Amino acid sequence: MNFLRTIFAQANVFEYGIIDTKDICFSTDVRKMCETNACQQYGKTWCCPPAVGSMEQCRERIGKHEKFILFSQKYHLEDSFDFEGMVNGLTQFKRTCRTLDEMLHPKTKDYFILSNEGCDLCKTCTYPNAPCRFPDKAHHSLEGYGLLVSDLAKSANMHYVNGANTVTYFGALICNSAMLKM
Ligand code: SF4
Repeated sequence: MNFLRTIFAQANVFEYGIIDTKDICFSTDVRKMCETNACQQYGKTWCCPPAVGSMEQCRERIGKHEKFILFSQKYHLEDSFDFEGMVNGLTQFKRTCRTLDEMLHPKTKDYFILSNEGCDLCKTCTYPNAPCRFPDKAHHSLEGYGLLVSDLAKSANMHYVNGANTVTYFGALICNSAMLKM
């Protein structure tokens, strides 16, 4: 766990917690929420439904690993209407996910990362006309897998809400127990 502790600290991760993948609940309601396109990413990138496959395929992908390590980052806002602050926070969070990936990759390839909504790697996503330009760097969305983040935070003993004028973003590192021994 020393390696993970170190990279989470270096990436300024706020909190993290471990859940056994066999205990993860998948929700068709969350997938249905995606389909309403509230975040405007549905059908827009390779990282969101329907491109990520059915919820069953997402469940299988996660189920091939033993551990689901939820991690979060908290950002301060000027007030609860600070939309720009929220967008900046999300951009920074996506960078954090990539930083974690860059630190993990030289050590092991036996993992994958889920991030918050959408993909910001390219100015214009190739979806659906051409393959993803960076399939090894693009992170699928947590919600797109049918995962209810507030429930995950509870299972991982983490705080979903972190006080007035803050926004918290969540990602997940899906890996095997061997990673915890590094
Ligand atoms: S890396 Fe580029 S092509 Fe791939 S999902 Fe992200 S935005 Fe789309």
